[in-house]
Amino acid sequence: MPVTVRADLASLPDYVAGRKVPGAVILSSNELSGQAPASVLAAIAEAAADVNRYPAMGCDDLMDRTAEHFGVDRARLAVGCGSVSLCQQVIQALCQEGDEVLFAWRSFEAYPIVTQIAMARGVKVPLVDQAIDPEGLLSAVTDRTRVMFVANPNNPTGTALRTAELTSFLDRVPDDVLVVLDEAYREFVTDPDVPDGLTFLDRQNVAVLRTFSKAYALAGIRLGYLVADLEIAAAVRKVGIPFSVNRVAQAAGIAAMTASAELMARCREVVEERPRVRAALVELGYDVPESQANFLWLPLGERTAAFNEHCLDQKVVIRAFAGEGVRATIGLPAENDAFLAAARTFPR
Ligand SMILES: *Cc1c(COP(=O)(O)O)cnc(C)c1O
Repeated sequence: MPVTVRADLASLPDYVAGRKVPGAVILSSNELSGQAPASVLAAIAEAAADVNRYPAMGCDDLMDRTAEHFGVDRARLAVGCGSVSLCQQVIQALCQEGDEVLFAWRSFEAYPIVTQIAMARGVKVPLVDQAIDPEGLLSAVTDRTRVMFVANPNNPTGTALRTAELTSFLDRVPDDVLVVLDEAYREFVTDPDVPDGLTFLDRQNVAVLRTFSKAYALAGIRLGYLVADLEIAAAVRKVGIPFSVNRVAQAAGIAAMTASAELMARCREVVEERPRVRAALVELGYDVPESQANFLWLPLGERTAAFNEHCLDQKVVIRAFAGEGVRATIGLPAENDAFLAAARTFPR
């Protein structure tokens, strides 16, 4: 008899690599345009010289610095190889086989994948008007529900829950269900009524997930962090793959926090572009929900594939979700202009 693999893995979506378009404007992955700051690149080069040595096992310096920089309790922190890795660790730390993990849909593509890999059951709750529906999430809770992922702002729609709505939601989530507030785009939020998840950490069943991939210009280095209750954070650290936050990533993260003034200035440029790009699209007749993130969502439905092809022909790479819509990252002004030019010439 041959060796067999888990049958359920056949239902996991295969990764579809984006079309390679030489010289194209890349607005497909919500990265910050332009290289990481020179000081960060220097720290990476320096750390790379010692790659024959294992990294610090407990990421001590990185943990100290992250706790200090973001004003969180170090003992409540877990760092991971991208926040995707922390999503999977949360499930591995909390769920038994068949337990349920709730999330809105459409939301971050990694949620259903890491849920299934960790042997839990993903439950998708439809968006309402392109936004996360807290009432829908609450109605979907069963006695098997252990975790909820709430991306605020939501990827790919950019919509965000406001303070009153999120507070009322958290008040009604059962105490034994962990709500992971995924704030990958926190640094791009401009509406003061979109709450900072860290303010909810007085609740034992709330955790906040953040990443260095977006505002900190380190998508390629794979680094994220979670702030949670003491015991939950310890369990999340425990299930992590040893040394998965490598030596170069640890150094890059520390250097990025040191360079945060420069990076936050670049984030401000992005959010200043956001209303300009949205207004131009609305003017062209596109439906575009207001975004609190570094991207815009165009719910194009059946026209999604054609719009995507048209953008590729114009050497603009965006992210298409077949039959639903496209997500375009806000880049530098010239990059956004290239996207707008494509949107303008799309035959409607
Ligand atoms: C981009 C993104 C992340 C970041 O993932 P990393 O693994 O840290 O690169 C997390 N959550 C959401 C919702 C995202 O869009």
